Amino acid sequence: MLKITEIFYSLQGEARDAGRPSVFIRLTGCPLRCVYCDSEYAFYGGQWLHIDQIMDQVAAHRTRHVCVTGGEPLAQKRCHEMLERLSDEDYKVSLVTSGAVDVSQVDQRVSRVVDIKTPDSGEVERNLWENLDHLGDHDQLKFVICSRGDYDWALAEIRSRELEDRFDVLMSPAWEQQDATELSGWVLEDQLQIRVQLQLHKILWGDVAGKLSHDHEHYKYEASRRIALRWPGFGNLSCHRHQPWLSLPCIVGGLRSASCF
Ligand code: SF4
Repeated sequence: MLKITEIFYSLQGEARDAGRPSVFIRLTGCPLRCVYCDSEYAFYGGQWLHIDQIMDQVAAHRTRHVCVTGGEPLAQKRCHEMLERLSDEDYKVSLVTSGAVDVSQVDQRVSRVVDIKTPDSGEVERNLWENLDHLGDHDQLKFVICSRGDYDWALAEIRSRELEDRFDVLMSPAWEQQDATELSGWVLEDQLQIRVQLQLHKILWGDVAGKLSHDHEHYKYEASRRIALRWPGFGNLSCHRHQPWLSLPCIVGGLRSASCF
């Protein structure tokens, strides 16, 4: 079994498949704490699912593209088994991973998108540089840039490790921290052979988790999670839309879930 925060259908927002309708499997738990993390809701909670149950949920959507993300998906050992199963069933699978966990055992059919943590992430010491030795043509490296200092650090790493020549390298401006136009100017000025990418899903829908879930389970989960954080023991409550009486305590507590309305 695997602990799952959410399974949802949306457009891929980043990397080579940006814009492609995909199913996302978000695994629960992450050993890192990046300052810009936009999926903190995946640190705790979640639901234990058999791989068969996961496969059924994935198959309910008309796409062959699956993105396995987190949290840090590889923090759960059985993630490898799920990646193999998805690949065996001919899904085109990408894996988004923090770069702090060994990727050498990941099924070779899976496209790995490996973060390189910058100083401003707060987790630069966690980079497992040995991972670079196990990446190939269909894998990608991603730097999330928070500042000019981050950019200068990334530039030095890219040049000293010859990353441009070896990999498909991406740079993303940290959401609401680094101006995208400014970052693009730096990349052009330095004639870096990389790609600047914007987070398409955030441009389209803002910073809303699990956008376009086809059922209401995610929203129920999100509402329950927020309530549970505020009032432990109430974590199995459902959402405001279906149980309006929940709105009063949440409004009082300032916790009303915007995604639920
Ligand atoms: S590795 Fe990803 S999920 Fe984990 S804290 Fe960093 S940004 Fe968040």
